[in-house]
Amino acid sequence: MTKQDPFVKNPVEVQKKLVENIAAYPKSARIMHICGTHERTIAKYGIRSLLPDRIEVLSGPGCPVCVTPDDDIDTAILLAKKGLTVVTFGDMLRVPGTEESLFDARAEGADVRMVYSIDDAVKLAEENPDKEIVFFSIGFETTIPTTAAVVRRGLPSNFSIYTSLKLTPPAINLLVQDINVDAFIAPGHVAVITGTVPYEKFAKLGYPIAVAGFESYDILLGIKMLLDQMAAGTSNVENAYLRAVKTEGNPIAIKMMDEAFDIVDAEWRGLGIIPESGYRLKDKYKEYDAAVKYKSVYEDSLNELREIRKKKKKNCICATILTGKATPADCPMFEKACKPTNPIGPCMVSDEGMCHSWYKYCRD
Ligand code: SF4
Repeated sequence: MTKQDPFVKNPVEVQKKLVENIAAYPKSARIMHICGTHERTIAKYGIRSLLPDRIEVLSGPGCPVCVTPDDDIDTAILLAKKGLTVVTFGDMLRVPGTEESLFDARAEGADVRMVYSIDDAVKLAEENPDKEIVFFSIGFETTIPTTAAVVRRGLPSNFSIYTSLKLTPPAINLLVQDINVDAFIAPGHVAVITGTVPYEKFAKLGYPIAVAGFESYDILLGIKMLLDQMAAGTSNVENAYLRAVKTEGNPIAIKMMDEAFDIVDAEWRGLGIIPESGYRLKDKYKEYDAAVKYKSVYEDSLNELREIRKKKKKNCICATILTGKATPADCPMFEKACKPTNPIGPCMVSDEGMCHSWYKYCRD
């Protein structure tokens, strides 16, 4: 792995230099990031407008709210409507399922609550022993260690977790088979946990990788590193976020995740089922797994919703946007029927969604 120190004392000057270096790359390049926070920085600072047209930066499936599939959202809604207390992060409340959102279910009387962490959810269970609390857990490797730590500490008997947790590197496996892309910017916060090693197999396949942080100069440095590799005809994993990411990641967090969860196949919105890309509680914790504990409560209704979904006309192109094959500008509802105050799809709900970022930062 090549090492360069990206920490800069004069970011404006450094960025000007980076933009010049990037512009000197003579060929076309398609670079994909897989991180909602990267997209937000790119949109906020107009990074695409600083690059020559021949260098494209695509947005991949990097927003945890956006990649959560309809099945999981519908399941959480059904659990709430069947009398359980469903708690989750704020953004998930507004994501539309097949017929409604968790917010809508709450308006109809279901017990749905917003929390900032799994600790808040456990506290709610401890304070309400007469209620069955289900924590709808979403996120990537960045949030999974917190959930794992709480599971290992011990959970109240009236508490369970419905997991829709995802690992990011397996998504790249699928993208490289399906998308015309030359190189990847890997998410720095994920790599803080996982390290850079999980990305090495993609470098071996011929894709340059740069792990980048979240300042505009971090992303520009990542792009420059990728173009340098392409110019040299090499493909390595480079670290443009040395101030936070170590090659080996965070071994304590990795151990905690391994002890609490098994890696399983998982469904991603827009990408379908990706092998070994999700987490399920280990068998020894299955009494806290809402998908095991309450399957009989929601299964029939979920099957009915699946049938309804098949017949529904889908106008939202979020799934296509998540694979880098479209942008919000390709959606006729962007800025018109679909806005952050009235989101039609998940990409407009979360502030890590591409539609939300473009609505906020990329309109005239
Ligand atoms: S603008 Fe709205 S409807 Fe269109 S793709 Fe984005 S979230 Fe979906």
